[in-house]
Amino acid sequence: MLDDAKFRTLHDGFAGELIGLDDERYESARRVWNGMVDRRPALIARCAGEDDVVAALRFARESGMPVAVRGGGHNVTGNAVCDAGVVIDLSGLKAIAVDPDRARATVQPGVLLGELDRATQVFGLATPTGNVSMTGVAGLTLGGGLGWIARKHGPACDNLMSARVVTADGTRVTAG
Ligand SMILES: Cc1cc2nc3c(=O)[nH]c(=O)nc-3n(C[C@H](O)[C@H](O)[C@H](O)COP(=O)(O)OP(=O)(O)OC[C@H]3O[C@@H](n4cnc5c(N)ncnc54)[C@H](O)[C@@H]3O)c2cc1C
Repeated sequence: MLDDAKFRTLHDGFAGELIGLDDERYESARRVWNGMVDRRPALIARCAGEDDVVAALRFARESGMPVAVRGGGHNVTGNAVCDAGVVIDLSGLKAIAVDPDRARATVQPGVLLGELDRATQVFGLATPTGNVSMTGVAGLTLGGGLGWIARKHGPACDNLMSARVVTADGTRVTAG
């Protein structure tokens, strides 16, 4: 059960979408790549930016609820969803910026491998990711990330320059 007052505070300042059990989008929003995963979160917070992440995290912490973070939703174990908790859904955050002069790409946490490849190939560039284009850049990189050009350029994680991180207590830091 969501606490009404806490939910109202979250709702009023939230720029993205909040999907609860009675929302018609709930069933599709809780699904992940592995169809055997059948978890029922109390709330799915589709974040529109960093402020939403901090707010959703605060709500979960103050409500004593578990948290799951969703990137591309491809992890086989279904870590991107949890039972009776809050899913911080980052899959809608799709911005990509490529700086060809510095050979740097900056991606938001919902970007998939194929989307990154399309953006870098315009400039004749590529970065190590994985083999399947629908996997999420964030989750893959957190796990190391082995793909087509890893033997020449290493795993994805070795090519990560920096990351914007929201810590469990809601602090924002730039790592790297
Ligand atoms: C069909 C398929 C093919 C694959 N091919 C490859 C491959 O070629 N090479 C390879 O290395 N791996 C491969 N994988 C494994 C894949 O890299 C992992 O499953 C990875 O965790 C998927 O990341 P995701 O963002 O899509 O998944 P998610 O399930 O959304 O996230 C995975 C994990 O990372 C966490 N996470 C995601 N985003 C964030 C974030 N922004 N902040 C904090 N935590 C976050 C999630 O909470 C979860 O624990 C493959 C998986 C599948 C299903």
